[in-house]
Amino acid sequence: MSRKIQIYNTLTRNKEEFKPIVENHVGMYVCGPTVYGDPHLGHARPGITFDVIFRYLKHADYSVRYVRNITDAGHLENDADEGEGKIDKKARLEQLEPMEIVQFYTLSYHKAMESLNCLSPSIEPRATGHIIEQIEMVKKILENGFAYEINGSVYLDVNKYNEKYPYGILSGRNLEDTLEGTRELDGQSEKKSSVDFAIWKNASPEHIMRWPSPWGEGFPGWHMECSAMSEKYLGKTFDIHGGGMDLVFPHHEAEIAQSNACNDCNPVNYWMHNNMITVDGKKMGKSLGNFINLEEFFTGEHPKLDQSYSPMTIRFFILQAHYRSTIDFSNEALQAAEKGFTKLMNAMETLGKISSSDNSTFDVNDLEQKCYSAMDDDFNTPILIANLFDGVRIINSVKDGKESLTAVDLEKLKSVFNLFVADVLGFVSSKENNGNDLTNEVMELVLKLRGNAKNNNDFDTADLIREELEKVGIQIKDSHEGSSWEIK
Ligand code: ZN
Repeated sequence: MSRKIQIYNTLTRNKEEFKPIVENHVGMYVCGPTVYGDPHLGHARPGITFDVIFRYLKHADYSVRYVRNITDAGHLENDADEGEGKIDKKARLEQLEPMEIVQFYTLSYHKAMESLNCLSPSIEPRATGHIIEQIEMVKKILENGFAYEINGSVYLDVNKYNEKYPYGILSGRNLEDTLEGTRELDGQSEKKSSVDFAIWKNASPEHIMRWPSPWGEGFPGWHMECSAMSEKYLGKTFDIHGGGMDLVFPHHEAEIAQSNACNDCNPVNYWMHNNMITVDGKKMGKSLGNFINLEEFFTGEHPKLDQSYSPMTIRFFILQAHYRSTIDFSNEALQAAEKGFTKLMNAMETLGKISSSDNSTFDVNDLEQKCYSAMDDDFNTPILIANLFDGVRIINSVKDGKESLTAVDLEKLKSVFNLFVADVLGFVSSKENNGNDLTNEVMELVLKLRGNAKNNNDFDTADLIREELEKVGIQIKDSHEGSSWEIK
């Protein structure tokens, strides 16, 4: 039986009970990266947000087809259909083939997603692999009378569209607001109206990436790929479309318009948007000097960073806020996330070592219910984490002999933690994530040698080992059960 899950729908501005189009199946499309630069926090947030949603829907017994695209063509430098293509520009500056840029940054994006423990989507289609589908869609929009061709480019006629469909339905902007915001300064545009947007663009002689079309050589408008690829893999109307809040307008508004203009149907039932990450309260941006890419977080090599932060610390940092809230980056916030994550994972380890009693002083079933309720309520990961920390308190109290759990409850608590910490939130211990089998084996040996030194009353050597390990970020803990280690 599928669970009753409430989803906040940007389209209706309400939380609604999720009802799939096809029973027990979910089609979910999420806008992926434009691969022309290093992956950064702005990529990590949607990656992790929709990874947890993907994981939870699968746990709720849905068969999920998760499609996340790679934008490798058509994304221009500004939203007014002008300027160079982002990938073209990078290729020109670095004197490389555009596809070398695409290959390099797709691989670095995948590597980053993997270290953040995000599962791969079911399909990861590329814009350049779907030029034919995009051309077909443009043709149909022209046939239906919602677009016009001029100088080899095709524009969606927003005024015409708005006569039949409500343009601005997702963003809440009406046509007048949009006109205000997009009026060109020079008045030189070939568009009939500044609100119109390109669905196919004529390639200027210097534009490198180009394809033949009925309108001459050109390339698709950026919004077109998501409409064409979501339709191809999920159908004309599908369940969930996700992405960052910055994509609501114009990107997702344009997707709705393209689908209506082409298929005369609304493409998406539930629109979900994650909020942004700010740095010192400001939007993160290359030009603002506050731009930190993920690799810099992992190595600590950036003037704004006091130390390095593991991928799991970043994951915890992102999930301890609700996906619709903003998160502000600071070293203090990340250090707090690091502490929280370590405490949670240490409790997971302790859970495997504590023993049961004849009676329980804690209601594990109630904890389980609260964890489910948090996730059923629009994937509320901060509430879930708070509930798990109630569990952490109990685990540590049982270890100290202050509380007790029966064998049945202990097993139940283990399964709750395995499910929510590992399977749903996708946390892996830093030993698994940072270290490997070899590290574990070497550390076992080091602990054994230190134990021998202590047994021989050679406390200088024992202290030296502990201090030297501290310097490389490994902490040794001594207890009456023996010594253990953890990566700080
Ligand atoms: Zn998109």
